[in-house]
Amino acid sequence: MPIYRYQANHAGCPHCQPGFDEMQRLSDPELSACPQCGAAIRRVICAPALAIGGSHLLSEKKIGEKGFTQYKKIGKGVYEKTAGKGPDIISSD
Ligand SMILES: [Zn+2]
Repeated sequence: MPIYRYQANHAGCPHCQPGFDEMQRLSDPELSACPQCGAAIRRVICAPALAIGGSHLLSEKKIGEKGFTQYKKIGKGVYEKTAGKGPDIISSD
């Protein structure tokens, strides 16, 4: 069964204020109120999905070790090297 994460919209109790995980069947309706205090809650994107989505990302060190060069955009058409070999700054100008 999938686990959904819920969090209080505004003020809640210690259960829903920081957020809580609820295991539900796909057929179960989405919760709209905290089961502990009844405060309005919303479903948030669950953490495991985010972890899976980010797991393919290599650390900057790994990128350099594998011979890749990574740049980050620091301005309009200007990129600064964050890992790997290559010029420190590349610019489209
Ligand atoms: Zn609550």
